[in-house]
Amino acid sequence: MSKRPHVVWFRQDLRLTDQPALRAAVDSGHPVIPVYILDDETPGAWRIASASRWWLHHSLQALSAALQDKGATLVLRRGSIVRELQRLGREVDAEAVHCSQSFEPWACAVENDLARELSEHGIQFHRHAGTLLHQPETLRTKAGGPFKVYTPFWKALTSGADPAKPTRAPSAITPGPRCKSEKLDDWALLPSRPDWAAGLRETWAPGEAGAEQRLEAFLDETVAGYAKSRDRPDQRGTSRLSPHLHFGEISPQRVWHAVLGHAQGHALGSGAETFLKELVWRDFNHHLLFHFPHIPEKPFRPEFAAYPWKTSPAKLRAWQRGQTGYPVVDAGMRELWHTGFMHNRVRMIVASFLIKHLRLSWQQGEEWFWDTLVDADLANNAGNWQWVAGSGADASPYFRIFNPMKQGVTFDPEGDYVRKWVPELSRLAAPDIHAPWGAAEGTLKTAGIILGKTYPKPIVDHAEARAAALEGYATVKAASG
Ligand code: FAD
Repeated sequence: MSKRPHVVWFRQDLRLTDQPALRAAVDSGHPVIPVYILDDETPGAWRIASASRWWLHHSLQALSAALQDKGATLVLRRGSIVRELQRLGREVDAEAVHCSQSFEPWACAVENDLARELSEHGIQFHRHAGTLLHQPETLRTKAGGPFKVYTPFWKALTSGADPAKPTRAPSAITPGPRCKSEKLDDWALLPSRPDWAAGLRETWAPGEAGAEQRLEAFLDETVAGYAKSRDRPDQRGTSRLSPHLHFGEISPQRVWHAVLGHAQGHALGSGAETFLKELVWRDFNHHLLFHFPHIPEKPFRPEFAAYPWKTSPAKLRAWQRGQTGYPVVDAGMRELWHTGFMHNRVRMIVASFLIKHLRLSWQQGEEWFWDTLVDADLANNAGNWQWVAGSGADASPYFRIFNPMKQGVTFDPEGDYVRKWVPELSRLAAPDIHAPWGAAEGTLKTAGIILGKTYPKPIVDHAEARAAALEGYATVKAASG
């Protein structure tokens, strides 16, 4: 009698190496059917947005080729995950469905529905740990609750055994019966009319091989100096692994052990340790999202709901387009538009500017990032926006209002980052390039700049905006009693 196939439902784990769901299906000795489902239907889901769709297209292409190499064909389906998996399971008479567990609230609900539906049809459902260093439901404070502060979380995560060692990709996969699949091109994940993805194509190599190359380059060139270089947007000072990690093209365990291995048994340098701490922020944000599922929409600290946000489509648009008149803010927003990425330091600056200088709600910034980032990630995006807004669990205090000029001078001292993304200011030297309105008339003239014409005047005055933001915060303080 032929063995009933095992379905591997790929999600944010688009890789073959260290992929527990795939490994379990292959180890079962049964034929394997890999499937990806594009679900734009399930209510409550954060629909995969524009830049992420571009990434997804290429990542699925890479995954499909890698699976083909091992003997299996990736099946593509579109629609409600529960309906499609149930349908596929029945079509092929599957014995089991395997997946990596997700901790996004809507996806947890989908998994629960799926478990029930599949069991009614006699199909087993196995959830594996495939996306984080730790499982959010297992790590608890001494009092038994979820963590709300990062440092104890880091200590708890690192006080036990190291994360599991990554496993190899299967050497071969026994394919299941042929089944109906949609064509990737029919999903129209890539932009056309206009094709805004030229900068993304120049910048990224989605897929498992691209992720490995990023990791190797980071270990060879960057990790040693990471503790200092990570704050410099004018340098290649970070790993740029975030989209690869989001789509699961590389596991955090693989990254973790590669960093430890790079130290070759010696004590970790400050660069490596600082990097691992950043990697654990990713786990921390997922831990928070799992335990506090409202954080993509509502402030973690309820008193922040009282903040008197303003409405200004014109200012929001100026921020989105990099036309605020604050060079480091504009550079960041244009880097984002062009490449689908923004350096972390600059993400903090532009987020602070939106929330505190413009007093536009963090949710509007979160939405724009969701649409434009190739690493758009529900937990990390919400957690970080709330961190900047001061409304998050272990957040930066609200009254810490970044001065965009000072941030520019400190972290982009020669002005090279601004020069790259705001070319109309490229002939200004630092520090003028970070505050062109303060430059002498003659300097502006020589640099070919007419403020208000070739580059905008600041859309708000820094000192006035700062005072107004603090006044708004007084409402929050009053609401908290
Ligand atoms: P590295 O410095 O090389 O760090 C290594 C990895 O650690 C990253 O790839 C990432 O997975 C993780 N990491 C680093 N910093 C953070 C952090 N602050 N929070 C959580 N994980 C972190 N990151 C996303 O992955 N998706 C998002 O949607 C996202 N939105 C953000 C929104 C705002 C307002 C801010 C301030 C930050 C946001 N971040 C987000 C966090 C951070 O900016 C990016 O993870 C980082 O810039 C990615 O670059 P990298 O891979 O070179 O990071």
